[in-house]
Amino acid sequence: MKPAPFEYVRPSSVAEAVATLEAHGGMARVLAGGQSLVPMLGMRLMRPSAVVDINGLDAELGQIEARGAETTIGALVRYSEAEASPVIAERLPLLRTAIRYIGDRQVRNRGTLCGAVAQSDPTGEVALVALTLGATVVAQGPGGVRELAADGFFVGSYANALAPEEMITGLRFGVVPARGAFFERGRKHNDFALLSLAVAATPEPDGSWRDVRVGMGGINDTPVLARAAAARLEGQRWDEAALAEAAQLALEDADPPEDVRASAEYRAHLLPIHLRRLLLSLVEEPRHG
Ligand SMILES: Cc1cc2nc3c(=O)[nH]c(=O)nc-3n(C[C@H](O)[C@H](O)[C@H](O)COP(=O)(O)OP(=O)(O)OC[C@H]3O[C@@H](n4cnc5c(N)ncnc54)[C@H](O)[C@@H]3O)c2cc1C
Repeated sequence: MKPAPFEYVRPSSVAEAVATLEAHGGMARVLAGGQSLVPMLGMRLMRPSAVVDINGLDAELGQIEARGAETTIGALVRYSEAEASPVIAERLPLLRTAIRYIGDRQVRNRGTLCGAVAQSDPTGEVALVALTLGATVVAQGPGGVRELAADGFFVGSYANALAPEEMITGLRFGVVPARGAFFERGRKHNDFALLSLAVAATPEPDGSWRDVRVGMGGINDTPVLARAAAARLEGQRWDEAALAEAAQLALEDADPPEDVRASAEYRAHLLPIHLRRLLLSLVEEPRHG
């Protein structure tokens, strides 16, 4: 199919992009990498009145910035740029690992991290890492700049807290735990994940762990934090019993979907098994993996 007619706008600044979104009363859509938007237009799953192509705004949106303890990824930073960035490798290795699970090289050359956050796919890798690491979504709208915590940003399947006249300008991360690990299981590469997991924590000299974060994707209609599991492990030494208990507690925050890819029962079966293994890898691995 071909897209329904729309006005094509290529703004020369973020302010102009926002003004266009406002002028269209929330019926316009931002075009970043186009890896999700273009297929949705083609299938007429979306019929925006205008497409606001932000690809000319590299000067405002194309940077990865390390400022003090914070790292900000602009809305035009492509997956492949983040993957190759020494700043991301040093400061956000968990994000770098997760990006490698996304699509294929062509998708990663065009798709943007902020586009993925805006897309809010419940199986999306960037959304999951942003939630797990407590990132902040920076948005600009007619009322100015808004900062939205990733925890609370994802409100449903492909739905988020962004207003229709707002656009994301960046994704900001603070200091992250010393260790992290990522897991994903799909039916095949490039398919939607049945289950994805991101864990992060910092080991203390006495053998205990602090700042424990456990994120789960594909197991609910949004990426979710396994809060009970993380609480079980916070400040504790992670022996076999603690890890097994935490892995079971993760089910408290899961409401696995039933779809053509897997039954809810199968997803619930996979979760504690792979979470326990992933947590164990943090203990065994000296670095992010
Ligand atoms: C073959 C294939 C495989 C894929 N595999 C995966 C995968 O494994 N994991 C995964 O997460 N994704 C996957 N995707 C989707 C891909 O990652 C998209 O690139 C990503 O979801 C959106 O990024 P984008 O820059 O392409 O956004 P676009 O397609 O341009 O936009 C996506 C949506 O976000 C909105 N949007 C984009 N940028 C902004 C912004 N700055 N502010 C406000 N709204 C914005 C758009 O209006 C649109 O609604 C795949 C896509 C393809 C085609």
